[in-house]
Amino acid sequence: MMLSFMGTPPPEGKRLLSEIEVQYVKGVGPRRFEALRSIGVLTAMDLLYYFPRRYLDRTRIYKIKDAAAAILMTEEVTFVGRIKSVQVVRRGHGRNMMYIRLADDSGTMRCVWFNAVQYFANAFKEEELIAFSGKVTSYQDRPCLIHPDYDHLEDEADEAFLHTGGIIPVYPTTEALKRVGLDSRGFRRLIKNLLNNLDLYEFPPDPFPKEIISINSLMDLCEAVSKIHFPKDEKELNYSLRRFKFEELFYLQLLLAIRRNLIRHSPGLAFKEPGALVEKFGKEVIPFKLTEAQRNVLHEIFADLKSGHPMYRLIQGDVGSGKTIVALIAILLSVENGYQAAFMAPTEILAAQHYATLSRYLSPLGVETSLLIGGQKKKVRADVYSDIESGRTSVVVGTHAIIQEKVKFNRLGLIVVDEQQRFGVMQRMALQEKAGATRGEPHLLVMTATPIPRTLSLTIYGDLDISLIDEMPVGRKKIRTALRGESSRDKLYKFVREQVLSGRQTFIVYPLVNETEKSDLKAATQSFIRLRDEIFRGFKVGLIHGQMTDTEKNDIMLAFKKNAVNILVSTTVIEVGIDVPNATVMVIEHADRFGLSQLHQLRGRIGRGVHQSYCILMSEDKFLDEKKIQTSDEATTNRRLRLFASTDDGFKIAEYDLMLRGPGEFFGTKQSGAPPLKLANPVRDRDIIMQARKSAFELAEADPHLRDKEHERLREVLLRNYKDSFDFLKAN
Ligand code: ADP
Ligand code: MG
Repeated sequence: MMLSFMGTPPPEGKRLLSEIEVQYVKGVGPRRFEALRSIGVLTAMDLLYYFPRRYLDRTRIYKIKDAAAAILMTEEVTFVGRIKSVQVVRRGHGRNMMYIRLADDSGTMRCVWFNAVQYFANAFKEEELIAFSGKVTSYQDRPCLIHPDYDHLEDEADEAFLHTGGIIPVYPTTEALKRVGLDSRGFRRLIKNLLNNLDLYEFPPDPFPKEIISINSLMDLCEAVSKIHFPKDEKELNYSLRRFKFEELFYLQLLLAIRRNLIRHSPGLAFKEPGALVEKFGKEVIPFKLTEAQRNVLHEIFADLKSGHPMYRLIQGDVGSGKTIVALIAILLSVENGYQAAFMAPTEILAAQHYATLSRYLSPLGVETSLLIGGQKKKVRADVYSDIESGRTSVVVGTHAIIQEKVKFNRLGLIVVDEQQRFGVMQRMALQEKAGATRGEPHLLVMTATPIPRTLSLTIYGDLDISLIDEMPVGRKKIRTALRGESSRDKLYKFVREQVLSGRQTFIVYPLVNETEKSDLKAATQSFIRLRDEIFRGFKVGLIHGQMTDTEKNDIMLAFKKNAVNILVSTTVIEVGIDVPNATVMVIEHADRFGLSQLHQLRGRIGRGVHQSYCILMSEDKFLDEKKIQTSDEATTNRRLRLFASTDDGFKIAEYDLMLRGPGEFFGTKQSGAPPLKLANPVRDRDIIMQARKSAFELAEADPHLRDKEHERLREVLLRNYKDSFDFLKAN
């Protein structure tokens, strides 16, 4: 987190680091100033907060003779040595290969770049000392690094440093920064110099109250800033890192704590105990008995709804655990109390599906339900708007469209948001602002199927109360999961035919990394044609993908639901929430290209009815056949897929996925629900999270609006870092 500090005038005439513009730092000229400004480094203090992305130390550096052994490792490794040769080879079509031979005292190895341009090659000089980092791969039967990261080292200084067991910081950099000499080496010099001259300046006061520092045994800010760049050893490094991880997590938790307090204490709608309507639903409409977990969660919800304060609750439950029905009962309670309810889904398909489910359950009770999605005709929408405004409709199901300005609710009492991970923390908060949650209404219920470790839910959903549905409805058969290579393809098709002949249905999913990626879509479409016209001729085969209009998508989903389509070929649009209990086979093509959590979601589409279900992950033999595995990537993929096939425990899968990919990628897409953390890892830094949370919540309890003089700077930093998303803080 880049923090810029503001502060009070300094004593003794020295100037505050946070007020010194970075162009006045020794070593920064006008060109560097521009480049630094473009990455948000404006002051000398910001420069000190420009942290290394990695460290080189002797213990982590591999000898070239051990490179072959590193091929099967999942982690990146680093080699330090001298460049023996740089070679650019033209290969036609303007494509060049570049080879660098690196030597250390144990041997030599090759680094390879495809598509290198000459000026890139010029950055490397023969005999220079350099560090290359990356995953070791086998290329032309030799261990090699392909497109490694590189860091130029300073000859004597760094070499001596490494020999004495020192640690060298490696800084993030860009092409633009490199052009003004700010490669990692450039930053090292610049920051070192500034740190050496710290006594010329006034160091800004620590925003953290003394008590927080001492209780959590944090390193003093000034010391930490210098140690994070140039730690003496690993222990010192970890201690200073801990300070900044804590800082990052603390601000996030403080924000969550303040939000939570604010909502907890504001007046909300007080619903009465469940009455005739809810009872009738339980007795006459609902076709099964609720699980104990569902009942417990309902009690928690009822308690919130009648408390007189806004409900602000998350339901976490694995795919298929039955969240919808729980939400539905909460909706009924709202209706029974004379209030409308809104049910929001992340996609139009899901909205349409929920609409079908909800209206099927609600119409026997005489409760009016409406659908509101972007793809509707103007006239239809206008009618829905007016029904919502007049109060003629009690339950509105839809996408984001629901909270647009044009929609005026008559008396909105409850918002349900399904499949939360698609929205993301910041979006959720914005949405609640809009719906008026911080003004005390309406109640909010969020549902997510992403099973995430507790520490992560505390960072993402840390302001919500959390309910867990940790039990599946009875009678579900365990899904059988198999990994298959190309050689089994005929058997696979035969199996699908048998299933369809016995009345079941099948999904066949193709990866579409990016919905707009034409080549992927083409591949899926071509496969579809072959499946329809050759492999499964005689069966009804349908296709659904993200480029279709919403009406087309809805039509095909409806046909699948009615079994008018037996085999549905799709891209990942079906990933979330689709409910077709008669579908028993999920075939996932190129399974290696999916994240584990995504696979888990896909597998959750089957095993929803009484029949035995099967999930079949197809991938190339090189990922499955231990004899054919060559690279560390292939080995990792093999481990991932095997782990997935061996368990149906969503938490276990998610934890493994998080470890492998980090929270950003774990959540997919840019609009990820991952919290804005740069240093802390929400899984590994469990202890720091818990401490930061405790301190932040205590502080918010004691001083909810941060009005205390001692908290002034905390408030400033908080406001500055989250200024866009959190207007509500200023209002208080
Ligand atoms: P999710 O939690 O993934 O959203 P759903 O709410 O879609 O799960 O429920 C999955 C399926 O299980 C639905 O067909 C639903 O009707 C059914 N279901 C929900 N609760 C129960 C229960 N207690 N007993 C039997 N089936 C249930
Ligand atoms: Mg669902």
